[in-house]
Amino acid sequence: MATRKTAVITGSTSGIGLAIAQALAAEGHNVVVNSFSDTAADQAVADAIARQHKVKTAYIKADMSKPAECRALIAKAAETFGSVDILVNNAGIQHVAPVEDFPIEKWDAIIAINLSSAFHTIAAAIPLMKKAGGGRIVNIASAHGLVASPFKSAYVSAKHGIMGLTKTVALELAREKITCNAICPGYVLTPLVEAQIPDQMKANKMDRETVIREVMLDKQPTKEFVTVEQIAAAAVFLCSDAAAQVNGTHLSVDGGWTAA
Ligand code: NAD
Repeated sequence: MATRKTAVITGSTSGIGLAIAQALAAEGHNVVVNSFSDTAADQAVADAIARQHKVKTAYIKADMSKPAECRALIAKAAETFGSVDILVNNAGIQHVAPVEDFPIEKWDAIIAINLSSAFHTIAAAIPLMKKAGGGRIVNIASAHGLVASPFKSAYVSAKHGIMGLTKTVALELAREKITCNAICPGYVLTPLVEAQIPDQMKANKMDRETVIREVMLDKQPTKEFVTVEQIAAAAVFLCSDAAAQVNGTHLSVDGGWTAA
């Protein structure tokens, strides 16, 4: 994967997805940026990556809760760049509620975006990767792909599911020079997580540092957030030639959370 390739990263206008898009562009790969919002700001993200890293980029709108749009994203990326060599399934949402009260529409949305979207993008990308003689698939799972937490039934189910999908795809494509692996981040300080801190401060009557230490990083032995750059570096490794024999497994980047 040393030469310039085309990478599609779902949900890549913010947080972990954006960092992965930037890191793959820094490696010289062309990048497809995706979200479902289709704003001028989304387009600006793709333009900025192109300018900064002197690669080609495209913003492609696709709602990852919709199977046809997941598949169309891959088709449009191939139409634009001629191939899809790297696929990073990153788009994800969260909802927290006891299982007996868990809203049905939230369950359906989380399973659709966090799990089924990867099935659809992978299915659409495989023929292109086979034709190109290889490829890399990286699924952004979570520590919650390995262990559970209460009140996150849909998220934990979807993330455990994507671990199974990762292994199955890896076995099916092992002879095609296509690898499929997962990254399992712990708590990452993305804009989404940052936005929760003021509410937690109010609810728990704690200052910012105490909320981070005792509420957010309770399970993370290092007591530090994982950074988006650390997740992006793991993705770059899994997409490299050095990782050609890393297949059907996961890389935990969780400060030791799942060692316990
Ligand atoms: P984020 O909210 O910053 O990013 C999520 C991205 O998904 C956004 O770009 C958003 O636009 C996109 N997205 C959401 N719904 C979409 C849809 N229907 N169609 C297309 N795109 C959609 O959050 P993040 O923390 O960067 O999360 C990225 C991934 O990392 C998710 O899969 C999440 O589960 C996983 N993860 C995050 C953490 C963490 O602590 N932040 C930990 C473990 C795993």
